[in-house]
Amino acid sequence: HGHCMHIRHRLICSLTSRLPKTGETIHGHKFFIGFGGKGANQCVQAARLGAKAAMVCKVGNDSFGNNYIENLKQNHISTEFTYQTRDAATGTASIIVNNEGQNIIVIVAGANLLLNTEDLKKAAHVISRAKVMICQLEISPAASLEALTMARSSGVKTLFNPAPAIADLDPRFYTLSTVFCCNESEAEILTGHAVNDPTTAGTAALVLLERGCQVVVITLGASGCVTLSQAEPVPKHIPTEAVKAVDTTGAGDSFVGALAFYLAYYPSLSLEEMLKRSNSIAAVSVQATGTQSSYPYKKDLPLALF
Ligand code: ADP
Repeated sequence: HGHCMHIRHRLICSLTSRLPKTGETIHGHKFFIGFGGKGANQCVQAARLGAKAAMVCKVGNDSFGNNYIENLKQNHISTEFTYQTRDAATGTASIIVNNEGQNIIVIVAGANLLLNTEDLKKAAHVISRAKVMICQLEISPAASLEALTMARSSGVKTLFNPAPAIADLDPRFYTLSTVFCCNESEAEILTGHAVNDPTTAGTAALVLLERGCQVVVITLGASGCVTLSQAEPVPKHIPTEAVKAVDTTGAGDSFVGALAFYLAYYPSLSLEEMLKRSNSIAAVSVQATGTQSSYPYKKDLPLALF
């Protein structure tokens, strides 16, 4: 049974010299398909650290869905509750990036939005026996709330990542979060306060804590993260080591996956120590290109992290 449990596409990317105009056809110079979805990324990072993980989500009965499941299996993640449906296509993000790095992106959630109560009921035993359940906002809010409720009512710690963020988040998301973890822009959307350094993040984190989370973590890119909790409601900055970043895409998911791993397997560590180690793992991920392709394995990391 999964000790780290996760709720949730495929990235279809073309590189071009410029973005096409309406009705125009242009030639690009590179095309690739990648694996994603915040949930899958986080699950993959946790599994690469050694977590026993299961992915609860829905994909289409199409080649993207088949490859998605194959990728989870290659990462030793249980796909018993990775459902396939004929009623929608696998969720995708179609991206065009020009030489200046500007992009246009279309996300079609597809099968993600079809994950329903019945699916969650089938996964009830894996949810209730997990040590930690991670949940994001890439499935319907109703399904996320239901999964969080199931976990909490079984005494399972929840790690909620409100991404992509919405301004009027249902207040129950806060009370159902053992750990509420978001980045600067998500914290801004949720609180209405500008967040760009440890001080402003501390202010926003207090606002989020007052909404009922047990612990709040706001990630700050190269500045690490800020945390506070009901037990210690004073913002604490956890800086990270300076590294040469090549590609920071997916750093937040590496961080969340690592934090879930520590919550599940090293529950006696202090929150500060878990966050220091999660910073270190996410710092490795920014030193290589890609998202999941940049996520480290336990065997490549210093023993001191375990
Ligand atoms: P997101 O990927 O959601 O935008 P952040 O940019 O806040 O999230 O990054 C998440 C975590 O990844 C940070 O808390 C930090 O630990 C690590 N990280 C991100 N960028 C860097 C960087 N340039 N150098 C070192 N660590 C980084």
